[in-house]
Order: sequence, then structure tokens, then C-alpha cells
Amino acid sequence: MRLKYYPYTLELKHTFTVSSNSRTSTPVVLTEIEHNGVTGYGEASMPPYLGESHDSVMNFLSRINLEKFNDPFELENILTEVDRSASGNNAAKASVDIALHDLVGKLLGKPWFKLWGYCKDSTPYTSFTIGIDKPEVMREKVREAEGFKFLKIKAGTENDKENLEAIRSETGVPIFVDANQGWKNKEYALELIYWLKEKNVLLIEQPFPKERIEDTAWLTERSPLPIIADEAVRRLEDVIKAKDVYSGINIKLMKSTGMREAHKMITLAKAFNMKIMIGCMTETSCAISAAAQLSPLADWADLDGALLIKNDLFTGVKIENGKIILNDIPGIGISKK
Ligand code: MG
Repeated sequence: MRLKYYPYTLELKHTFTVSSNSRTSTPVVLTEIEHNGVTGYGEASMPPYLGESHDSVMNFLSRINLEKFNDPFELENILTEVDRSASGNNAAKASVDIALHDLVGKLLGKPWFKLWGYCKDSTPYTSFTIGIDKPEVMREKVREAEGFKFLKIKAGTENDKENLEAIRSETGVPIFVDANQGWKNKEYALELIYWLKEKNVLLIEQPFPKERIEDTAWLTERSPLPIIADEAVRRLEDVIKAKDVYSGINIKLMKSTGMREAHKMITLAKAFNMKIMIGCMTETSCAISAAAQLSPLADWADLDGALLIKNDLFTGVKIENGKIILNDIPGIGISKK
């Protein structure tokens, strides 16, 4: 097998603001694994707060030698070796994992949701994310999101109530609130959650900094809404730590090192009776379609990443009126534009 890769920069349709930063582009690296004339595609997306970059991913991939593997079906062996080659580098690892899954699915002539045995119609509706902005801009973004069954609002600033009210002046659709570790005080957070519940908010993502385990467990115990871990849970081992602290986890391929480990995380979290959200970074339809293969297992989805960019290189899984629509294309369900 041969691995190829190249850097690319996603241009965002709107400046994207969360509680910690703003940006207008996202660096990605696109990968290809070729075997006997068949090519699988993968992607690493590197939002700056996760610490990976074009340089770190290119450097990691330059040290991966897939030539010694002749059998792409040995996913477990190959990806374990890739994982052990260096610590961290989760998005870089995901780019190999996704390309290998795409290749294997193509060689078998089936999409992954079918290989895993999941039903095409069981996909959830995805939320559409409204970044933090001036109230009038947020109202305009809500109008653009017409048709979506759920919105996701970034919170964790001084103006959380004001921003929510701005959105509620436009629409009554259910909302996911993502505080991105931005809330400080647990009593304040609990009171705010009761207020948000009255405003048809369905869940709260990452209320406090991930290190504040006791405060989060306190909040989860008392909260009338489920508390979902995002920043606190990257990989399989983190699911165990989140078990008595959060009600559920937001799984993203760029955190989990790809589809293989994400699938294991879902299985483990379900065994703990935890809720599952499948999420994303800003990504092309490549990584989004890979994540969508797992979406029939999710309670909620936040797979709007490819809708937020101007220069997607792939067509893949579609979002129709908010619903994730899987296709029958083998592998991860994509073709190059
Ligand atoms: Mg989040």
C-alpha cells in the first residue's frame, strides 16, 4: 500500500467564534492510500486549539511506511502500529484510519454502515451550528439555517442569555448549547440550565474546563438536561473517566484517531448507558461522510462541518432538511469533485 498526502486550507463561509477564539479558515491535510489500483481517501482537520498543524501532520505522515503492509484488511494491525508510532497526533492518525477504511470498503464493494450492519434510515438529524456573533448577525444565520430540526449555539460568554433570546426571536426549534468549557461557576451554570430548558434547549455540551471533574459531576447530578463531554473525551480511555461525570459524549474522528476507535468508544459508552453525539470539526465531505457511517448509532449528530466551508473537494453524504442521508457508495460514501 502507498500513502500520499497534501496540505489544503478550508475557507469558512462565516468567521467562526467560540468562547476561546475566532477564525476564518481551517488547515487540513488530505490523504490517499492506494492498493492494486484502488484509492481510499482520508482527511486530517486541525482547528488550532487542538495543537496540530499542517507541519505536524505532514511530519507525522512522512514517518508512516505502509509499503510493508500488503493486506489492507489487517486494519487492526496497521492502525495499531500507526497509533504507536508517536503519541498525540490524533487528527494525523485519523487521516490514515479514514483512508484505510475507505479503501477496504471499496475493495469489499460496500459502505461501512452496511459492513457494520446498521440501518440507513436510522441516521439522526444534524444540528446546524450558529457561532457567537452580534445578535443581528446571529439572527441572520438562523434564517440561513431554515429547515434544520436542531440548532447548536456556542455559549460560554457573558452574553449567553442575550444570544439565546436573539435566536428565539427567529425560531422555536430545539437547541443544543455548547459552552466550550466557558462557564465558571457551578451554581450559576445550574440556574442557567434551568432557564435554558424553558427555552427548549435539549442538552449542554462541556460546561466547565475539562479538569473540573468534581464540579461537572455535581452539575450532571442536578441538571435537568443531559451534560455531554466534548473537550474532556478524546479517546477510548477517556470514556471510562467520563462515566460518572457526564451523561454522554461527543465523539469526533479528529479526536478519536478515526473510525476504528470511534466505533469502540460508542460500544463502550453504550455499555455505560451514556448518550452518544457524533460531531466534527470544519471538514470536507470526506471526514464528514466517514463520521456519518457511524451516525445510525448516535442519539444526536452535529455533522454540519462541510456545510460551513466554501471549497469542499468531495461530494458524499448529504444533509437534507437536517437529516443525514447515507448513500450506497462503497467505503465512506464519497467521490472526488
Ligand atoms: Mg463542542
